[in-house]
Amino acid sequence: MTAQPLVEPADAPAPEAGPLTDVRHPAVRTVPVSGDEITVGGVALSRLAERVGSTPFFAYDRQRITDRVREVRTAVGGTVRLGYAVKANPMPAVVQHLAGLVDALDVASVREMHGALDTGKGPRNVSFAGPGKTPAEIRSAVAAGVLVELESETEARRVVAAGDDLGVVPRVAVRVNPDFAVRGSGMRMSGGPQQFGVDAEQVPDLLRYLTPTGVDMAGFHIFAGSQNLDAELLAHAQRATAELVVSLADHLPGPVRYVNLGGGLGIPYFPKDRPVDLGRVGENLATVVAELIAPALPEADVHIELGRYLVGEAGYYVTRVVDRKISRGRTYLVVDGGMHHQLAASGNLGQVIRRNYPVLVGNHMATTDREQATVVGCLCTPLDLLADDVPLPPAEPGDLVVVLQAGAYGLTASPTAFLSHPAPAEVLV
Ligand SMILES: *Cc1c(COP(=O)(O)O)cnc(C)c1O
Repeated sequence: MTAQPLVEPADAPAPEAGPLTDVRHPAVRTVPVSGDEITVGGVALSRLAERVGSTPFFAYDRQRITDRVREVRTAVGGTVRLGYAVKANPMPAVVQHLAGLVDALDVASVREMHGALDTGKGPRNVSFAGPGKTPAEIRSAVAAGVLVELESETEARRVVAAGDDLGVVPRVAVRVNPDFAVRGSGMRMSGGPQQFGVDAEQVPDLLRYLTPTGVDMAGFHIFAGSQNLDAELLAHAQRATAELVVSLADHLPGPVRYVNLGGGLGIPYFPKDRPVDLGRVGENLATVVAELIAPALPEADVHIELGRYLVGEAGYYVTRVVDRKISRGRTYLVVDGGMHHQLAASGNLGQVIRRNYPVLVGNHMATTDREQATVVGCLCTPLDLLADDVPLPPAEPGDLVVVLQAGAYGLTASPTAFLSHPAPAEVLV
């Protein structure tokens, strides 16, 4: 690991006030800047906007993705396999770039599966999870030879039927809904009743059904939750997950070869968020593998799968100020983008209490002047709020307002058809 601490104690002194909107925001501090401008892949933002030719657009920084993968690899060590969850950002160029950096691609729809296979990643390194796989989708997955992560008994029956029909041996893993939940996850996906996975107590019965069918049962997949910033809670989840897998292993007819512990590493969206302590996550994971998994399941490949953590911070949603107006004392910057492209920043994607994503004026980074401004999108609804009453350099029509942390669950997680504005461009720089 690098000598620099990856996590900052909450009482650490704020860095010296500088030109940035909120230098204490960990996301703001990592943004590359040259002179007055954010740079993406070394290109100044206004120049990039000219190159793209229209605003709004999403820009993804290739080098930041590469660096992030390297950091994760360094932290988790060589024995843990790293997967990329394509749904976080399925832009083909991004998936292609990541295909060359990670061990596996995790998909959650047939279209994502095709995108993953298009990169040249072989089907042995593609896994297909997600509830509600139809018979046709399962048939495609079995024909492709990818690992099907079973979310229910119905899916198991469909996989067996597809294998029989096609004359191929399907590869499966059972996605398990554990009997515990993970605290600290922004999005909980395990524990109690869930649409995800097979309840742990039902797994033995499912394996009894599958054993005589001859499908290739590789192992288990457990994904407990998303957007967790707490290394200790993540460690706790990984340990509990490993214990559960070991306890289920006896029900598998052969050795467990595949253990997917999920991921769930979050990124800092809000000023008080602190980056996850990746070094701790890696150490804890190594301990879990060495103490629990390796002795009991010597043939198992241990996987983690990350989406947001690999791409989220490498992405920028770039909009242009169209109008500046003052309404009864409040300054509004009206931009040409909005919640139809970046729903999460508007607070309408899973936030209970709306908080501001980090927003900057990307072509006034050296300006020290500040005014309080509210950034709204161009949709005719009060929901289209990108930043509520934040300190920003004074901005005029033509300036570039940038939403950070936009590389994951941005464009494809947003209601692009709402209000019928054009789709934004996406570039990997
Ligand atoms: C969405 C998803 C992920 C990725 O979650 P992130 O929070 O983006 O890392 C990983 N695994 C499964 C099964 C998923 O559905």
